[in-house]
Amino acid sequence: MKPAEWLVKFGGALERGDINAAAGMFEPEGFWRDLVSFTWNLKTCEGRAEIKAMLAAALAGAQPRNFVLKDAEGWFTFDTALGRGIGHLRLRGKHCWTLLTTLQELKGFEEKRDTGLAAPAREPYVVIVGGGQGGIALAARLKRLNVPAIVVEQNERAGDSWRKRYKSLCLHDPVWYDHMPYLPFPEHWPVFSPKDRMGDWLEMYAKVMGLDYWTSTPCIKAGFDQEKQLWEVNVVRNGQPLTLRPTHLVLATGMSGFPSMPRISGAEKFEGTIEHSSTHKGGEAWKGKHCVVLGSGTSAHDICQDLVERGAAQVTMIQRAPTIVAKSETLMDLAWGPLYSEQALARGISTEIADLTVASIPFRVLPQLQQPIYKTIRERDAELYAGLEKVGFQYTFGEDGSGIHALYLRRGAGYYIETGAAKMLIDGAIRLRSGVTIDWINERTVHLSDGNELPADLVVCATGYGSMNQWAASLISGEVANRVGRVWGLGSDTRQDPGPWVGELRNMWKPTQQPNLWFHGGNLMQSRHYSLYLALQLKARMESLPVSVYYLEPVHHLS
Ligand SMILES: Cc1cc2nc3c(=O)[nH]c(=O)nc-3n(C[C@H](O)[C@H](O)[C@H](O)COP(=O)(O)OP(=O)(O)OC[C@H]3O[C@@H](n4cnc5c(N)ncnc54)[C@H](O)[C@@H]3O)c2cc1C
Repeated sequence: MKPAEWLVKFGGALERGDINAAAGMFEPEGFWRDLVSFTWNLKTCEGRAEIKAMLAAALAGAQPRNFVLKDAEGWFTFDTALGRGIGHLRLRGKHCWTLLTTLQELKGFEEKRDTGLAAPAREPYVVIVGGGQGGIALAARLKRLNVPAIVVEQNERAGDSWRKRYKSLCLHDPVWYDHMPYLPFPEHWPVFSPKDRMGDWLEMYAKVMGLDYWTSTPCIKAGFDQEKQLWEVNVVRNGQPLTLRPTHLVLATGMSGFPSMPRISGAEKFEGTIEHSSTHKGGEAWKGKHCVVLGSGTSAHDICQDLVERGAAQVTMIQRAPTIVAKSETLMDLAWGPLYSEQALARGISTEIADLTVASIPFRVLPQLQQPIYKTIRERDAELYAGLEKVGFQYTFGEDGSGIHALYLRRGAGYYIETGAAKMLIDGAIRLRSGVTIDWINERTVHLSDGNELPADLVVCATGYGSMNQWAASLISGEVANRVGRVWGLGSDTRQDPGPWVGELRNMWKPTQQPNLWFHGGNLMQSRHYSLYLALQLKARMESLPVSVYYLEPVHHLS
């Protein structure tokens, strides 16, 4: 069947309220991913039974109509009772394999041109805690939708969350993937932006977008007043305590806020420095010194490389578990390039289309689409992997061979995009101890679980970060953190992403079990794309539109 014909029939079935006919137009195991347009949620329905259940609950409220196919690629537009949407469909034979529906704007509440005169928000409807790229992108969208929002950021300057990271850090994702909403980077911007330039860009962006962005304002505590249905958010602004009373609270406090620091026996005796990667400032101070880096993900590789380049006497990486490694230029060619590159732009794939294309792939299907890419990567860069194997580095392509993107969604860590450190490992400039960990530390030495000993002036624990619901525990309460449960991950039942399968990122950008509490964040692409859906959900509530959330995900894990 042709997409246009399918869409006409499908639209007709929905308008008639014929749920069985609509669901029957999908493959028995077909997918419908909805971003807010039908479900007021981020929800992937898998198989006809789930599609039917969703339509039984959501169709009457959504009142979808005007489905119009836009091109041969399967893009279409549609209306609901309250908004306008964009969708995408993939057919196999006469049935739909994957359908995406997304809300793009609310009728009567479209984004407005800035008058340039708006007074700073004093009674915010939304308080966003955390002004990294996530908080900033969301605030920019809310500004355009005329939703009073204040961003409270504990740092002195917007962009400091990047500036304060180790000196050598450059973005690992290419510039075409990294744009903020509305205001793309200029054409000459480096493909892999150095972290301080990223910080400056964010600071400039917050300013020119006219955001109500309060620097030097830590949020100390927040609580939800059930009776008034308002949050009480205690902040300290430039040293002065202040209480804000918004209806909604967004935690955009980052996935990298709670360093996981291992307890190492004897650490108190160590005469050198032990630090987490989040507080490591860079290699300059360690010229001529012996350095041990625990961990083998992105930070560990970057830090080792920088220590070598700054003249450390010896740098040893301790690898505890297998790590995905892929060359940046190969990923550019095979993974990002088709959607996010100069060539993609030349083929007419705008950032918006690229983002929606990524969104159109159900998370269940993603691994099977990624596996062939990583098979090619393995063949193309056979020399790299042979070199890594030779020095004993344990590389992997993921438990199911689905690579970096899938692993990022599952646990947000466990990979390295090669920009030089893997070569240093192969050349021996970075020494490697693999399949071991640190058992204990003496005054000047680190003892490994295989009985070996390393001299050390510096130990960096590049051991990652804890779940974002720790923010809810520390800023709100343990009770609310438990009510909300784990944040991030899909329930893939792989390491650090326990099942059951939930099919969407837990608690991200969607209603949580705690009324009026939201989580926002992720990489630059996610911050850009999903801030739209979160902003629309907040706007609809502010305008008292009849929002009916379909399927609030039950909590399976507390952290
Ligand atoms: C080493 C490293 C490299 C990375 N490289 C990339 C990359 O190449 N590309 C990419 O897209 N992503 C990358 N990421 C991941 C992610 O995109 C970044 O971590 C990014 O900074 C996330 O943005 P965010 O706004 O969600 O969180 P953050 O940038 O962490 O911002 C959170 C903000 O919340 C503030 N905050 C926290 N608590 C409070 C409080 N109580 N009150 C007020 N403010 C508070 C913090 O000060 C901070 O500014 C990397 C992460 C790390 C750690």
